[in-house]
Amino acid sequence: MAEASNRIVIFDTTLRDGEQAPGFSLDVAAKVALARAIDALGADVIEAGFPIASPADAEAVWQVSREVRRPVIAALARCRPADIEEAARSLGPAARRRLHIFLATSDLHLSRKLQMSRESCLEAIVDGARLARRFTDDVEFSAEDATRSDRDFLCRVIEAVIRAGCRTINLPDTVGYATPDEMREFFIDVRTRVPNADQVIFSTHCHDDLGLATANSLAAIQGGARQVECTINGIGERAGNAALEEIVMALKVRRNRLPFDTAVDARALYETSQLLTALTEEAVQANKAIVGRNAFAHEAGIHQDGVLKDPRTYEIIRPQDVGQPAARLVLGKHSGRHAVESRSEALGIELTPPELEQLYRAVIQLGERRKTVGDGDLRRLVAKIRTVDSEPAAAPAPHADAVGYGHGV
Ligand code: MN
Repeated sequence: MAEASNRIVIFDTTLRDGEQAPGFSLDVAAKVALARAIDALGADVIEAGFPIASPADAEAVWQVSREVRRPVIAALARCRPADIEEAARSLGPAARRRLHIFLATSDLHLSRKLQMSRESCLEAIVDGARLARRFTDDVEFSAEDATRSDRDFLCRVIEAVIRAGCRTINLPDTVGYATPDEMREFFIDVRTRVPNADQVIFSTHCHDDLGLATANSLAAIQGGARQVECTINGIGERAGNAALEEIVMALKVRRNRLPFDTAVDARALYETSQLLTALTEEAVQANKAIVGRNAFAHEAGIHQDGVLKDPRTYEIIRPQDVGQPAARLVLGKHSGRHAVESRSEALGIELTPPELEQLYRAVIQLGERRKTVGDGDLRRLVAKIRTVDSEPAAAPAPHADAVGYGHGV
C-alpha cells in the first residue's frame, strides 16, 4: 500500500445530492449560478446532476458543462446503458468530464431493493464501467451502502472496477451509519486488500444521520481517502451530506493533526453559503459551524471581554478568513460592561464611568425582555440616561451576582 499524496480532491455534490433534499430544488439557471460560485470557490469536481432522472437534470448538466470550464463536471448514472448514455450526452460540451456510475453492494440493498444476486451485481458494475470508459477516461464508481457491504465482496467489486478502468473509487456511508474509528479502519483495510489500490483515488461520501459526516470524512482521509464528496451548508438527503466548509476549515485549522491540502479559497465560503441560501430560500441554522449567523457571535460577558482583549481567546478562526463579517458582539442579557462600552465607542458615544454603569444595567434589563439589544436601542438608552441623569440611580440589576458573567464555559 503506497502512501498517497496529501492533496485532497474536493468533489462538490451540492447540485446533485444536495439538490435531492426536500425543499432544496434548484432550476437550471440557479444551478448554473451556483456552479459558477463553486468553481470560484476552487472545488475540483462539480457533480451537476443525475441526467436520466429528469429532462431538467439533463439540461442543468448540459448548461453547467457549457458554462463552467475549469473544474471537472461529473454526471451520475446507474450501471445501466440508458443512464450512462444520457449522462455522457449531457456532459457533451464539458471541457473536463467525469462519468460517475453507482450500484449498491450491500446484501440489504441487493436483496431487498434491487432483487439482485451478488454475481449479477458484479457483472452489471463491470459492464457499466466498461461502457462508461468508452465515453471518457475519467470514470468514478460508487459502491452504494459500501460501509454496510460484505467486505470480501466489496473488495472483489473494487478490484474488478479498477481492472475495468475506473480511476476513482467512492465508498459511501450512504445512511450515515459509520463511526470515525470504523471509517479509518475501513479505508485502510480496503486499500490494503485490493490489488492496485495505489493506482486509483479512493473517495469518501458521508451522510450526517448521526451528526458524524464531517468526522467520518476526516477519518476516511486518515485512512487514505484522497477525495471527499461534500456539499455547501451540508445540504443533502435526510440529515444531509458532509459540509464542504467544515472539511476545508478542519484541514486548515488543524493542519498539525491533519496535514492535507485542498484548493479551496476559504474566503469565499460564506458568500457561497449565502448564495445557496438565497437561491433555495432555506436558511442555514444560526449555530451552523463556519457559515451560521452565530458562528462568530459572542454574547456572554466573559467571552465578549476575552474577544475584545484578544480574539484568539474564543475564536479558532478569524471571521474574515471564511468571508464572514467581523465578529459580532451581541448585546443582550448576558453581556458585560466591556462590550457595552466598546459598542458605544464604535457608535461615537463617549461615556463617563457612572453613565457606563447606568447604561450597562439598562442593557441587561432590556435584554431580559428582548432577544438582543441593537444599536438603536443603545442610542435610545443613552439619551434616556442623559435626560434623567439628575434622578436617583436605577434599581439594582437582576441576578446581580451573575451579571456580566454570562455562561463562562
Ligand atoms: Mn449521498
